[in-house]
Amino acid sequence: MRIDILTLFPEMCESVLGESIIGRARKEGLVEINCRQIRDYSTDKHKRVDDTPYGGGMGMVMQVQPVYDCYMSLCGELGKKPHLVFMSPQGKTLTQQRVRELAEIDNLAILCGHYEGIDERVIEEIVDEEISVGDYVLTGGELPALILADSISRMIPGVLADTVSFTDESHYSSLLEYPQYTRPYEWHGRAVPDILLSGHHANIEKYRREQSLERTYRRRPDMLSKAQLGKRDIEFLRSLKAKIKSEEEKKA
Ligand code: SAM
Repeated sequence: MRIDILTLFPEMCESVLGESIIGRARKEGLVEINCRQIRDYSTDKHKRVDDTPYGGGMGMVMQVQPVYDCYMSLCGELGKKPHLVFMSPQGKTLTQQRVRELAEIDNLAILCGHYEGIDERVIEEIVDEEISVGDYVLTGGELPALILADSISRMIPGVLADTVSFTDESHYSSLLEYPQYTRPYEWHGRAVPDILLSGHHANIEKYRREQSLERTYRRRPDMLSKAQLGKRDIEFLRSLKAKIKSEEEKKA
């Protein structure tokens, strides 16, 4: 898979993408991620990329010309149009499900806005999809683009040690993950649950499943309606609800 990030701050993206698991995956050729400097495509003699907004108001708006020419040069290099995502607080909120779908695409490009945003006309002309990383506003699209590139890259076979690394994780199957522990066994008087040291794999799996269900029920009950639940899960949740209800009645 190839991901191209169209940005005014490629160094900011490179500094993150060269590190840790994604940095290694890039070196090993499992995923190709390139950053393209939009400013390089400006035809302005001072390499300007923004101007004041029509109609007045605060801040600057990124102009159509450098963004469009940057995108067209990428299309020329690829010999086709990539799927272009514009990172925007006005887009659909990113979900693990969308991450999985985007990981199937061979050529993905991510456009980062800055300042007050990008002239609407070029967005209408070239963007396939707008994605938000949450209901808050950041100064630029670089951090959201990195979130998208990171979440997609770790879905690519070989990037993580094994597939279980992400299929067990929060959100993959609409459940939150069970709690994790490592050495030391005891810390500040808190011991690791003994079941995890038992070596009994079936019991450990059952314990983790129940922890996962309980966490999701207590923290994100909205997710449970989308989770695939078996008979044992439903029975466990029923008894958990009864336990919580009686705890609440005792407190009242
Ligand atoms: N004026 C815009 C508005 O109110 O919708 C916000 C512009 S924001 C300051 C500058 C750029 O940061 C945006 O064009 C977008 O690329 C990026 N950005 C900010 N918040 C974001 C979010 N929650 N998700 C994705 N991108 C975001």
